[in-house]
Amino acid sequence: MALTPAIFLDKDGTLLADVPYNVDRSRMRFAAGAASGLARLASLGLPLIVISNQPGVALGRFERHRLQDVRQELECMFERAGARLAGFYYCPHHPQGIRPGYGMRCGCRKPEPGLLHIAAQRHDLDLVSSWFVGDILDDVEAGRRAGCHTLLLDNGNETEWLRNEWRVPDHIESDLDGASRWIVSHFSDPVQAGAAPETAS
Ligand SMILES: [Zn+2]
Repeated sequence: MALTPAIFLDKDGTLLADVPYNVDRSRMRFAAGAASGLARLASLGLPLIVISNQPGVALGRFERHRLQDVRQELECMFERAGARLAGFYYCPHHPQGIRPGYGMRCGCRKPEPGLLHIAAQRHDLDLVSSWFVGDILDDVEAGRRAGCHTLLLDNGNETEWLRNEWRVPDHIESDLDGASRWIVSHFSDPVQAGAAPETAS
């Protein structure tokens, strides 16, 4: 089976206005530029997959089953924006977690790339031609470690700016609307997309 690229999206601060540890559907709102950005990304016809750290499970802030509500609301919000949610993958762990079974180091908490590998297996994805969009450098690192192109939303949510070779995005925009324009142009431009440039005759 041929593998397809995907667009991976961080949730809090990228897709949604960040409300810490929120699992209340009524408090989920698109971040600025996210609805129009999603609509534009949907025009690519590629799977749109949300990748999220949800340490609130491990830290005892909410029960894991509440993330089903979050998933359902995401599906509704995507639909209203003219897009389709292809997957919602989250890490419920945290090294300082207090809930039994969840307080641990794991391979799925960003900046680890584990969730991207799980999604790639389940959806037959080509990670190397996929994009990861997030608002902090942990997102960039997870994306790069998985082999994806990465786009950082520089919207004030990254505050530490710890750099290493993995934490350098391919491109920076201020919101998902700008990010979607960049990614759509990348897929429509064969030179940028990695094909051999045409030779001038
Ligand atoms: Zn995890």
